[in-house]
Amino acid sequence: MELQIYINGKFFPQSKALISVFDHGFLYGDGVFEGIRSYAGRVFRFEAHLERLYKSAGRIALKIPLSKEELKEAVLVTLRKNNLKDAYIRLIVSRGTGDLGLDPRKCPKPTIVIITHKISLYPESFYKQGLEIATLSTERNSPRALDPQIKSMNYLNNILGKIEAIDKKVEEGIMFNRQGLVTECTGDNIFIVIQGKLLTPPLYLGVLEGITRDIVMEIARKFELPLAEEEIGREELYRVQECFLTGTAAEIIPVVKIDDRMIGDGQPGKTTLKMIEEFHKITRREGGEIYVKK
Ligand code: PMP
Repeated sequence: MELQIYINGKFFPQSKALISVFDHGFLYGDGVFEGIRSYAGRVFRFEAHLERLYKSAGRIALKIPLSKEELKEAVLVTLRKNNLKDAYIRLIVSRGTGDLGLDPRKCPKPTIVIITHKISLYPESFYKQGLEIATLSTERNSPRALDPQIKSMNYLNNILGKIEAIDKKVEEGIMFNRQGLVTECTGDNIFIVIQGKLLTPPLYLGVLEGITRDIVMEIARKFELPLAEEEIGREELYRVQECFLTGTAAEIIPVVKIDDRMIGDGQPGKTTLKMIEEFHKITRREGGEIYVKK
């Protein structure tokens, strides 16, 4: 059976789930979204994702026409309809259908789309052997122009970074800000271990506050690992002891090479492996209400 897609309160089979070409999400990338996961029939960190969605919408003066509770219910219904237990959930709110002008006032009704899909995991080798990544010359959006904290439907900055990474024959790349400081990767946050300390760039540099990033910080605090949000320069990347990336889809992925320079002994490090283990415990343990029976 085809996937059932939620559009503005109705369900459509995938092949018939269509949006107007006058939707400003399509015309201008005017809208916001969330990537969420469910594990064993429970939506993981649902509240945090919903909160970030409403915050992103607020930052672009987009009023979501459903309450958080209503939106939550719509996601759960979509998951049930598709009978998905381990799912990737894409929740999208665009400005809605307008005309060819930019003016958001021409779009009276935001478009809400919920796509739930089987999670397509990265190959197991990424987690076991670690990832090779590269530093990119594509600069991360300035938070003063377009704050990366807004998870908007306009991902061109990240896509340009991804194209550069692909050109360099790696899966992910590190983006710097105008000052040459590390921000994040094209679709993941970054952590490094340097002199035994776990570091990640502070949000004010222009970094999405990743929900997986927050979990890593929770784990570090719980186990009293030295942790700091600190500015990281390019040169520091070449003397890290460990490095890993975090994101809802990727979870926690070890990095073993940056720009062809091997990190440590080329194997995922001790802190990284501990993080992966604890992260998996959390995803198994928590996850809100059960929406389908096992
Ligand atoms: N940075 C960017 C640019 C992203 O797109 C994502 C994925 N949403 C992340 C970081 C990781 O965020 P999260 O852990 O909330 O998925």
